[in-house]
Amino acid sequence: MMHAAPVPTLPRFTAPLIRAAGDLVAPRAKGAGRLCILNYHRILATPDHLIEGDPDVETFRWQMRLLAECFNVMPLHEAVETMTHERMPPRAVAITFDDGYRSFHDLALPVLAEYGLPATVFVTTGHMASKSSMWNDMILEAIRRLPPTSIDLTELGLGVLPLNGIEQRRRSAKVLTDRCKYMSPAEREAFTAHLQRLAGVALEQDLMLDAEMLHALTRNRIDIGGHTVSHPILAKLDDEAARREIVDNKRQLEAIIGRPLHLFAYPNGKRRADYTATHVRMLEEAGYSAAFNTEIGAATRAHPRFELPRACPWDDTPVMFAARLLRWLAGMI
Ligand SMILES: [Zn+2]
Repeated sequence: MMHAAPVPTLPRFTAPLIRAAGDLVAPRAKGAGRLCILNYHRILATPDHLIEGDPDVETFRWQMRLLAECFNVMPLHEAVETMTHERMPPRAVAITFDDGYRSFHDLALPVLAEYGLPATVFVTTGHMASKSSMWNDMILEAIRRLPPTSIDLTELGLGVLPLNGIEQRRRSAKVLTDRCKYMSPAEREAFTAHLQRLAGVALEQDLMLDAEMLHALTRNRIDIGGHTVSHPILAKLDDEAARREIVDNKRQLEAIIGRPLHLFAYPNGKRRADYTATHVRMLEEAGYSAAFNTEIGAATRAHPRFELPRACPWDDTPVMFAARLLRWLAGMI
């Protein structure tokens, strides 16, 4: 019989120490406060060795318990306003999720509710409307299903990728994901269709939130933010297409939830490679009041309001997870 691994917890007496350390590293001066904005994507029902970076629900649970015990978790919009205009509480953290996976509704929401924690979900509307999967999830499904021992993609300039064992599959999935990230949407679609033919099965899964779930989220202290229609690299689009991605997504989400959107997260989120000053202007014109990239470290008032950093600590023990948050809150990276 299989036994589940014990859920990691903080050693006794560690929580007061973390809180004391967080109070100690908090800047005293008004306007100097720091905010750690955590950036999740998908939550997994059980650990999946092919998927890197997304926690399973038990890992997510100890992370949320730790945040509730040791940090001040604030709604993101309130935290940004406080950081800009008032004195920030010490140990300030906000929780965000990108893309709009239904696992947020099914798995994360009950855990957040259990600990009374607020969160913001940045939703891509294209996948929601068509019930399609994101291209990166289709690559993962193809790599999971393809038979050993390798996949020949020389025709597409991608060489031969090995598929023996989980480690090789994980690496091959990463190679394909990295290569696909900066393809045009048409190239990417052709590529995932090709993978689907090779895998011999449909790679679409019902992974994304629908309108009904979005409604349920807004009834549960969950804020919704914009994340474009089709999750493109904005910097790769012409201005008109980029504007449409931003404006249409905002309008679609506002129509569903019945209130204006204020917060936006850039797809992929690297400055210059993924978005530029032009896109910052477009967001302001669209009526957004703040936007978030994927730079590591804590946000401060010194950051431009449309380029606030977000990252998720990747450590797999509670002590290391808390230590990294404290480092970011101390202004170290
Ligand atoms: Zn995203």
